[in-house]
Amino acid sequence: MAHDHDDQGHDHGQEPPGEMELRVKALESLLVEKGLVDPAALDAIVDHFEHRVGPRNGARVVARAWTDVAYKSRLMADATSAIAELGYSGGQGDHMVVVENDPGVHNLVVCTLCSCYPWPVLGLPPVWYKSAPYRSRAVIDPRGVIAEFGTRLPDEIEVRVWDSTAEIRYLVLPERPAGTEGLTEDALAALVTRDGMIGTARL
Ligand code: FE
Repeated sequence: MAHDHDDQGHDHGQEPPGEMELRVKALESLLVEKGLVDPAALDAIVDHFEHRVGPRNGARVVARAWTDVAYKSRLMADATSAIAELGYSGGQGDHMVVVENDPGVHNLVVCTLCSCYPWPVLGLPPVWYKSAPYRSRAVIDPRGVIAEFGTRLPDEIEVRVWDSTAEIRYLVLPERPAGTEGLTEDALAALVTRDGMIGTARL
């Protein structure tokens, strides 16, 4: 869990420094003020990547792993390649690792340093993922954090916390819910939530 807090060895890539964020804000305000950009349109674009496109990709990866044993083996052995097989690759997902939940283990993903996140499969990170309280408390009290998200994990379940970096991005493979034997891959994918793939929820 060593995650050096100076920037060496942690090339943030997508992580905007404070000054950059301010510049973006200033630019956005100016564009809106001049009537060149509709703030609602901007929100819609962010929402699109945050809630629709992104997590749906990860959900397809999960559903394929649930239904295709050979695919799951490839996914666990080399997640980057297996995910690319489905057409999802690129920035912020260059070295993917999939961690699997089972009846005795629950996995939770965090980036303690900033907001490293697997964009090709989950889209943009939610605001809480980037927040200081989540980043610190996910490590100190993962069960407490997961409980706040609405899931009380039994004591028998071991919780493993994975600290993302610019080099490695994690995706949780949730357990396939019971009673879903007859479902198609698409129907299974629809059951997979973003938080289930971060680990703040358990399917
Ligand atoms: Fe980070």
